[in-house]
Amino acid sequence: MMHKLAKDDIQSDILGQIERVSGEELNKCYQCGNCTGSCPVSFAMEIPPTKTIRMLQLGRVDDVLKANSMWLCVSCLQCYSRCPKAVSAANLFEALRQLSLRKGESHEEIKDLPFPFLKGAPQQAIVSGFRKFVS
Ligand code: SF4
Ligand code: SF4
Repeated sequence: MMHKLAKDDIQSDILGQIERVSGEELNKCYQCGNCTGSCPVSFAMEIPPTKTIRMLQLGRVDDVLKANSMWLCVSCLQCYSRCPKAVSAANLFEALRQLSLRKGESHEEIKDLPFPFLKGAPQQAIVSGFRKFVS
């Protein structure tokens, strides 16, 4: 029982961090599905935005952090513009990325990127890519 309580406390602390960093209130979402329907990359996400939020509401943070969804979000804000509850899945994905990167593990290593790609990519893309993927 003690072990279960400790685990629940950790989960609720992580959920609190996600809400603080994102500025979003998870329980405002009533699962209408508009965010997933309007997201241009939801087809490639292992867990689409609506389901991501539901899983966070249920405390399944570990499963959400393992999925590719937060790394695929392109911060286009289509989800936010269509949300009747003014919830931004973009902010939630950004918070998940920040919490993951703050552990010190990069999602992409600069040394693994091919030099011809780095040489040809626009500077802005490189800077924003490093901000998004490198801890
Ligand atoms: S901001 Fe991210 S989650 Fe929202 S619609 Fe764009 S890609 Fe999808
Ligand atoms: S559009 Fe808003 S209310 Fe609807 S599922 Fe997405 S976050 Fe929830």
